Amino acid sequence: MGFTTRDLLDHLMDRYGKITATDLKENAKRMNEPINTGLPITKYFERIGDCVQFADVGKTPCKHERILQMVYLAVLKTVLYGDAGKEWRNKSDADCTWTNFKTTFADEYHDLKLQQRLTMGQAGFHEANDARGEEVVEIEEALDQLAIAETVDRDVVASLTASIKQLTDANRMLTYQVKALTDTNQLLTKQIEQQNQPAVTQLPGDGLNTKQRRQKRFERRFNTNGYCWSHGVRVTNNHNSKNCDNRRSGHQEEATRSNTMGG
Ligand SMILES: [Zn+2]
Repeated sequence: MGFTTRDLLDHLMDRYGKITATDLKENAKRMNEPINTGLPITKYFERIGDCVQFADVGKTPCKHERILQMVYLAVLKTVLYGDAGKEWRNKSDADCTWTNFKTTFADEYHDLKLQQRLTMGQAGFHEANDARGEEVVEIEEALDQLAIAETVDRDVVASLTASIKQLTDANRMLTYQVKALTDTNQLLTKQIEQQNQPAVTQLPGDGLNTKQRRQKRFERRFNTNGYCWSHGVRVTNNHNSKNCDNRRSGHQEEATRSNTMGG
């Protein structure tokens, strides 16, 4: 986790306002509650740590020496930590820190636990109960974590399901669009083919179709300056008024295109 208990408390303070005098009194009471020897001593240290931070956020910081004095008395009352107590008393003032306190007493706690396990078979009810207490805490913690994991998993699954649905919808939409585009493309291809149909009969270059070319070839047979009195302007190169062999009555041999002589 990227935040500390202190961060969380500050955040809660920002959101929900002031810590009241009653809150602080409750906090002090919780801090002074005796050690539950059925729980690992680290649980006690966590409680004290939380309470100190709470008091700090509540603008009534605890004096360092006072806390150490209080916790020292608390562990003495358990009558379990003789060796650690002795070690603590022999420390210099500079070494009397909260961190060192926790280390010193946690070490003896682990020694005690080890002894209990080694002597389990012959151990009295009290020790057995201690050990079971620790197991219960461990199981409770495991269950808490499972519950959290399950909640997280459920959220993840829900969010994944939502994402998959979105993707499926998007995919369906894209499939539909692709089909529409394919249809349009086919239609356009067909139209282009139809438009290109006349081009198939066109000769490259002249831009004319068969009928136009036939017409042109036909026109080419006529003399563009030619004339015959009986047949008009549409005469072939070697056909004129002079040599016409199919003359109408009144035919004028001298008639040309510039002087048609009434033809
Ligand atoms: Zn003629």
